[in-house]
Amino acid sequence: VPTIGVLALQGDVREHARALEGAGARTLPVRRPEELERVDGLVVPGGESTTMWRLARSFELLEPVRKRIEAGLPVYGSCAGMIMLADRIRDGARGQETFGGIDMTVRRNAFGRQVDSFESDVRLTGVGEDPFHAVFIRAPWVESVGDGVDVLGRAESGPNIGRIVAVRQGRLMATAFHPELTGDHRVHHYFADLVRRAMEEE
Ligand code: GLN
Repeated sequence: VPTIGVLALQGDVREHARALEGAGARTLPVRRPEELERVDGLVVPGGESTTMWRLARSFELLEPVRKRIEAGLPVYGSCAGMIMLADRIRDGARGQETFGGIDMTVRRNAFGRQVDSFESDVRLTGVGEDPFHAVFIRAPWVESVGDGVDVLGRAESGPNIGRIVAVRQGRLMATAFHPELTGDHRVHHYFADLVRRAMEEE
């Protein structure tokens, strides 16, 4: 059984833990480097990426997470977590840093210029046939991706139709929406499977 950590500095940690347990994983809240060492995968929750960045820095987790990502740790980020996995961000706070890992440019609060939150159907390539009922809350979108990044889903309605909202690069994946807030845990199942396969490969 994989142990999947949930970065527990800030954000909707419990919702992710519940969804991951529903997907057959053991979970561990991660606040310290020692806890990070014990996990087979990591989820970076939704919340506020500027706060998460500052806390990650003061809890001395920025570098340890970067190192584990480089060493092949599977990581899934939702919303603020997507921002934390981006190599490049737009509209960040002054000096805002990320863990990085996914070769993409993410714009913070992108949809929020029009609306603070909205819902849209989104189909995710490889994550089931039926569309997700996706909940976006002051969400980012992905402005551009490098060659190695697979686009899994795009906004399917609203003024920003076509914007990239889900991506995967190897063992890293990110969604601009919050599947942990709905009863539909297919993204967490998909990620738990990714973690299991990564464990077999080690
Ligand atoms: N707007 C937030 C940020 O910039 C993300 C919002 C969310 O995670 N729901 O981090």
